[in-house]
Amino acid sequence: MSAVADVRNRPRIDERIHSVIAGARVAARAGATELPVINPATEQTMSVLQEADAAEVDAAVGAARDAFDRGPWPRLPLDDRKDILYGIRNLLRDRSDELAHLECLNAGLPIARVREQLARAARNFEFFAEVASTVTGQTYTGNRSHLTYVTREPKGVGALIAPWNAPLALASMRVASCIAFGNTCVLKPSEYTPLSMLRMAELFHEAGLPPGVVNLVNGRGAVTGTALVAHAGIDMVAFTGGTRTGKAIMAAAGAQLKPCILELGGKSANIIHESAVFERALDGALASVYSNNGQQCLAGSRILVHRPIAERFIAAFIERARRIRIGDPMQPETEMGPLCFREHLERVLSYVEIAVGEGGELLTGGRRAPGFSKGYYMEPTAVLARSNKARVCREEIFGPFATFLVYDAVDEAIEIANDSPYGLVAYVWAGDLDVTMRCSRDIRAGTVWVNTPMVRELRAPFGGFKQSGIGRDGATSSVEFFTELKTTTIPVDAPVLPGIGRDGNRRP
Ligand code: NDP
Repeated sequence: MSAVADVRNRPRIDERIHSVIAGARVAARAGATELPVINPATEQTMSVLQEADAAEVDAAVGAARDAFDRGPWPRLPLDDRKDILYGIRNLLRDRSDELAHLECLNAGLPIARVREQLARAARNFEFFAEVASTVTGQTYTGNRSHLTYVTREPKGVGALIAPWNAPLALASMRVASCIAFGNTCVLKPSEYTPLSMLRMAELFHEAGLPPGVVNLVNGRGAVTGTALVAHAGIDMVAFTGGTRTGKAIMAAAGAQLKPCILELGGKSANIIHESAVFERALDGALASVYSNNGQQCLAGSRILVHRPIAERFIAAFIERARRIRIGDPMQPETEMGPLCFREHLERVLSYVEIAVGEGGELLTGGRRAPGFSKGYYMEPTAVLARSNKARVCREEIFGPFATFLVYDAVDEAIEIANDSPYGLVAYVWAGDLDVTMRCSRDIRAGTVWVNTPMVRELRAPFGGFKQSGIGRDGATSSVEFFTELKTTTIPVDAPVLPGIGRDGNRRP
């Protein structure tokens, strides 16, 4: 039996998607808003999500608060906490077929891609268990009469909000980095992709996570997300999603002085220099714009090609884009599945007209993929823009949509790369060391990948410049965000006290 058939035999799709609060599914509520959960490959409703309203969010925050203020999790010896985090890692691996199936059905991501992301989701728990082991304090002895020491403590209850484009990978990152240090949380995934999230939350508890440490609420951003971020019982907000939403979340959190970490959108430049190894740059450019069905914050979606190789490179790119295998995401050979939901497909398609209306040239694609009577399938699309001022160069499209620009000199490429409201990542393909070093120094982005497609080094900081975010994920950065510093001072010699109010204490 093939691996795919095996996976297909194991589905367990819940008829109803409920919140998980204090370790248990919340019972159905009369009158609750219900939202269909749709398979983007078939357009069929697979399940119904019961939206968490403000009262349900309040119960979830209450459970997280209780688990933080009184529960065992923040008080567990670190080794015991790590055992549970390793247990979660193991269980995510053991159940990877089931989780992959749910993710594939719900997000439309190709199964091969989902398997990579699941490996990463499991690894996140291992990684942050290890990071928690590195947390140390400081001592200050400069003042000999007092010893001052600094400890790091968990920060409290996190509101964690995750998007739909890679639900397991991104939500697990948020959860693992939050709870590893002893915090508790409420997770709100996107209402488009709740299936794998519900199963993941249950697996956390199967692995021995105490109730209330991770609570899950489902629903739309405007209802469930807003109630969560505005809740007074939250101590911090960690958000992965679009820039516009990030601004709204930061404003809401700022009103209550809650710290935020925001991983937002991008419109990243992918600089192809004439000195690059042609075939590698081509492979890299295709991967960075079309993998994950084109729905990735890291997409190198503005491809800047050096004029001497531009014609040949663009022609080769188009030829390969047309050969991308579009199809059922459950099939291992599929390279691109459907986009995640109908409105998103329509939005991505609308950029074809925008591009052409601005004088751009449609190079390939631009339509719903032929041959599918159902499903949100789209052709891999590429346009040649007239200038970097075009909307298709400035706005994140978040689909299988590449925009080409041609440049003459490296300085010009760097200037175009930086002429963007975003600054998440950049890619440089060049054999010339001077070119790579200049790009690395002068491009204003959180990560620069040279001669490689995206590689997440979990230990290193990851996050955006400008409107691509605030704060960083990574070992040190996560410790800083998810813990508080506390300074304690204790006298070594009994200090002289002022004796306020004591007889004879009057100053002359
Ligand atoms: P959105 O910003 O639309 O939504 C992200 C999450 O926030 C969803 O769960 C959403 O719920 C919720 N939300 C929306 N409005 C609010 C609100 N007012 N208060 C609280 N929560 C809210 O992003 P998408 O889901 O469309 O994800 C795609 C975006 O995510 C892209 O811009 C992409 O670049 C970015 N992204 C960034 C990454 C990074 O690491 N920098 C990684 C991956 C994606 P709902 O679904 O109901 O709207």
